[in-house]
Amino acid sequence: MPRPIDLHTHSSVSDGTETPTELVQAAVAADLGTVAITDHDSTAGWPEAFAAASGTGLTVIPGMELSTNFGPASVHMLAYLFDPTDETVIAETARIRDGRARRAERIVERIAVDYDICWADVLAQSVDGGTLGRPHIADALVAKGLVSDRNAAFASILHWQSGYYEKYYAPSPLEGVRMIVAAGGVPVLAHPATQGRYRVIEERAIAELVTAGLFGLEIHHRDNTEDGKVRLFELARKYNLVVTGSSDYHGEGKHNRLGENTTEPEALERIIAAAKGSVPVWG
Ligand code: AMP
Ligand code: FE
Ligand code: FE
Ligand code: ZN
Repeated sequence: MPRPIDLHTHSSVSDGTETPTELVQAAVAADLGTVAITDHDSTAGWPEAFAAASGTGLTVIPGMELSTNFGPASVHMLAYLFDPTDETVIAETARIRDGRARRAERIVERIAVDYDICWADVLAQSVDGGTLGRPHIADALVAKGLVSDRNAAFASILHWQSGYYEKYYAPSPLEGVRMIVAAGGVPVLAHPATQGRYRVIEERAIAELVTAGLFGLEIHHRDNTEDGKVRLFELARKYNLVVTGSSDYHGEGKHNRLGENTTEPEALERIIAAAKGSVPVWG
């Protein structure tokens, strides 16, 4: 039996609660064969993850979860094995992270009108240069005793309809696919069939992304609805897209557990064969 492949995880470089080293150790403890580190809009965790995997027998796939905006919807795109020194990737992800930080600051200013919280409380919950998001505001609210955990924060003060929310800058999915492909990477749409605000993206848009180089769909993910998965399998067959599955592990930040959904070895082989920007790191 090949050991499990989990292609979507977060470290403290974005909104996971474990350092890249701890994430790799958790993947080894969970008996994974392969893990992809896919922090939001950042590759800063790659070197530490590679070093931590050395000698463990775990394979690390360098990746990222790129934020994109499709009209009012936030569409996440997994990017694997691209060149992290690509100038467009560096500039665009820096622009997204800057926009996220300023947006988080504005959200906190609005929350601070009603609750005892300030920007320093949020910075205390994140690593220097990391990708800031609502999870860090959630952690600050928890530390202040204002909510019990991240989930409770997202259900109340951080909900997009709470009145404190605003979006942040991100490229379109089409721009995202083009950028990743140009950097030698392999783009896979993350959890494309989640409920509510992040609806299934329509077939016409997917077809356009496929033409630009979209390579796969993350179908086995706890946030995809059952109806949505059926539709995604049809799309994968029709457009010859790779099907992936993954946990979207965030350490203690979410209930998702490593290896709860996995990717078939053949799917990973297709991704690796298509990649030109960087290589898997065999620990
Ligand atoms: P943002 O990108 O700042 O709008 O925040 C969205 C991020 O928060 C996503 O990356 C999710 O991983 C995380 N998130 C969303 N809902 C929850 C939740 N209920 N509990 C913990 N984290 C969440
Ligand atoms: Fe996240
Ligand atoms: Fe996501
Ligand atoms: Zn994710």
